[in-house]
Amino acid sequence: MTIDLARARADTPGTEAVLHFNNAGMALTPRPVIDAVKEHLDLEARIGGYEAADRAEPAVERVYDATAELIGAKREEIAIVENATRAWDMAFYAMAFKPGDRILTAVSEYASNYIAFLQVARRTGAVVETVPNDAKGQLDVAALERMLDGRVKLIAMTHVPTNGGLVNPAEAVGRVARAAGIPYLLDACQSVGQLPVDVGRIGCDMLSATGRKYLRGPRGTGFLFVRSDFIDRLEPPFLDLHAAKWTAPNRYELRTDARRFENWECNVAAKIGLGVAIDYALGWGMAAIGERVATLAQDLRDRLGAIRGVVLRDLGETTCGIVTFTKEGMAPTAIKEALAGQHVNVTTSSRHSTMLDMTQRQLDMVVRASVHYYNSENEVDRFARAIAALA
Ligand SMILES: *Cc1c(COP(=O)(O)O)cnc(C)c1O
Repeated sequence: MTIDLARARADTPGTEAVLHFNNAGMALTPRPVIDAVKEHLDLEARIGGYEAADRAEPAVERVYDATAELIGAKREEIAIVENATRAWDMAFYAMAFKPGDRILTAVSEYASNYIAFLQVARRTGAVVETVPNDAKGQLDVAALERMLDGRVKLIAMTHVPTNGGLVNPAEAVGRVARAAGIPYLLDACQSVGQLPVDVGRIGCDMLSATGRKYLRGPRGTGFLFVRSDFIDRLEPPFLDLHAAKWTAPNRYELRTDARRFENWECNVAAKIGLGVAIDYALGWGMAAIGERVATLAQDLRDRLGAIRGVVLRDLGETTCGIVTFTKEGMAPTAIKEALAGQHVNVTTSSRHSTMLDMTQRQLDMVVRASVHYYNSENEVDRFARAIAALA
């Protein structure tokens, strides 16, 4: 199956206004998602918010089935929360660590996750250790295996780092984690929606992702997957009357499904929008999306790599839709601003987001151009010309 580019662009009003290569920041929202969110807001204004939620229950409930279908999970293994960070936090902070416990992670780990590691290490006496990269620049699976011992209590890795095109070997890490019986938390924030992600094949116990990036959903949405036979090993760091039931004056009972990681109040319109966005992605098919994104990104890399002064900064054996680069004599922020003046969207990624990796590579900042399936070959061409013309 291939992507009908004309239809994809017609469904995406933003493509008329901008050349959007900031899909890893937030992708342009497709028409069905925009309509669903607006419709629900209108309904809330017309008949009342609680009443609107009752009427929209099937659409709200659909998000659990759609998410489960997207990642090969069961609906009761899905929690919908306000973003990927909170999803990840609800899993990570639910684990108990004691002094000397080891948390293993990757060089390209995301700042928010690493800050949480540091906080929990400080509180509990656990230690966080980084698995080195292999020669290709992704997590070295053999090194991970050598680091294992009885004190390793968690392997936590980012699937696709925020600052580069690499795809970490999530399945190989899953095999190692499974064989050793070690809990495995995958930050799939940048991979879900741009390539096929299947929790069964990966073998992770917990996975977090966001709505607004490659899934093209509304801002302020995210989800957490927790494997059903793992759920009871986690004590959610926060509880409320949705996550648990007050059953006697001094007793409560936790929900048995992953919604124990949710909280009661949420943006219902956005939640509906997330379900629509996932159904929309499933309509195209994740294999077709993944293939087009990877091809388009490789075209972009090839074009940029041929420009004098441009240095590509992507690592990894398998690359994806995120293309990072620098250009001699021009600061990444100046490149971003110059492009913005031409209605071309990119972002920059700084050392503060992925400190270990950027420090190791002696980089302070890179330009990040991230493509999606609705971007066109013509846009890749225009973008490459714009970069070449910058002085
Ligand atoms: C963007 C990003 C996050 C944070 O996602 P939010 O939805 O903003 O919380 C987490 N991890 C990685 C790797 C990211 O790129």
